[in-house]
Amino acid sequence: MPHYRPTWTEISRSALAHNVRTFKKYIDEDCQLMAVVKADAYGHGLIDSAQTMLEAGADRLGVAIVEEAIQLRQAGFDVPILIFGFTPKDAVQEAAAYDLTLTVFTEDVLTEVVQVAERMKKQVNIHIKVDSGMHRIGLKQTEALHSLLEKNTSSYVYVEGIFTHFSDADNEDIAYTNQQFSHFLHVVEEVEKSYGPIPVKHCCNSAATIAFPHMHMDMVRVGVSLYGLYPGEHMKEMIQLQQVMSLKTMPVMIKDVLPGEPISYGRSYAPATPSIIATVPIGYGDGLPRALSNKGAVIINEKRAPIVGRVCMDQTMIDITSIEEVDERTAFTFFGDPHKGHISLQEVADQLDTIHYEITCQIGKRIPRYYI
Ligand SMILES: *Cc1c(COP(=O)(O)O)cnc(C)c1O
Repeated sequence: MPHYRPTWTEISRSALAHNVRTFKKYIDEDCQLMAVVKADAYGHGLIDSAQTMLEAGADRLGVAIVEEAIQLRQAGFDVPILIFGFTPKDAVQEAAAYDLTLTVFTEDVLTEVVQVAERMKKQVNIHIKVDSGMHRIGLKQTEALHSLLEKNTSSYVYVEGIFTHFSDADNEDIAYTNQQFSHFLHVVEEVEKSYGPIPVKHCCNSAATIAFPHMHMDMVRVGVSLYGLYPGEHMKEMIQLQQVMSLKTMPVMIKDVLPGEPISYGRSYAPATPSIIATVPIGYGDGLPRALSNKGAVIINEKRAPIVGRVCMDQTMIDITSIEEVDERTAFTFFGDPHKGHISLQEVADQLDTIHYEITCQIGKRIPRYYI
């Protein structure tokens, strides 16, 4: 279906490719780069983003759930795809048919994988998940990992990898990440002693990849920073990334409002002086957070103009009194490349007391992604 409404995101393929190449240079030649494309590539669009990242040199793809991996296979991608999260037993057969790599941390699922692989007479690759201190998923103790691996009675089931995930790698205080890393190294050493070598050992997300090069091991799993976002302000000097997504709209009505005339639901704002108000066709139904009411801003002709009144489901009002030369063809940018004078996603996230990850993920499917 064509998009008629003048509200869109621009996804810069060149920025995405730049970020992939920058990470490829940042890591050793024998370390693989897994591009993390879960949650519709953090809202950037799964298929187009994955394609751009692979063309730019990413080695593999990582997703959260089996449905995302199947979508990638159906689009024709044949690189290894790791599913980070839990895969229910019901999905194991289909995952195997699509040559997906499963994360395993329960005997129950491993037993199912063994049965499926034997039945299909087909190699199934798995990665074992170690909990080194996030306490989300994975097994923590060496003994638990030993007894899990004893359940692998099939020569078709190949333990290609073992990994963990850091909970605090964006913290400038590195003590907890060091502790997690040591735990992981210890457990891996013990497991390999009895089970034999596991070729792909990995633990780094974006933050750890940037801040702790000595932890890269055989592969890094980079998500948010491939989209040009820094997990922490202190990382900006360590690597030069380019912001990928910007969110834009154009006004559908521009009008004069008199002092005291309230704008939007709840009459939360009324100008003190005669004002010019533009209405733009985007709202919280598109993932523009309602918490930006009377708080957020846009950039118009390189100047900042505030959101006034409440953000509605489909529309939002902007005070453009101080901006010259605005008409129905003028772009209003909610966030974009800060090097081009736009409001950064980091600033929007700070205003909302959240992280930039959440904002791009939330941009709704009603808004088209234009790859430029
Ligand atoms: C989401 C995720 C990543 C990527 O994290 P970023 O902070 O976006 O780089 C890496 N590994 C796992 C297991 C994840 O769930």
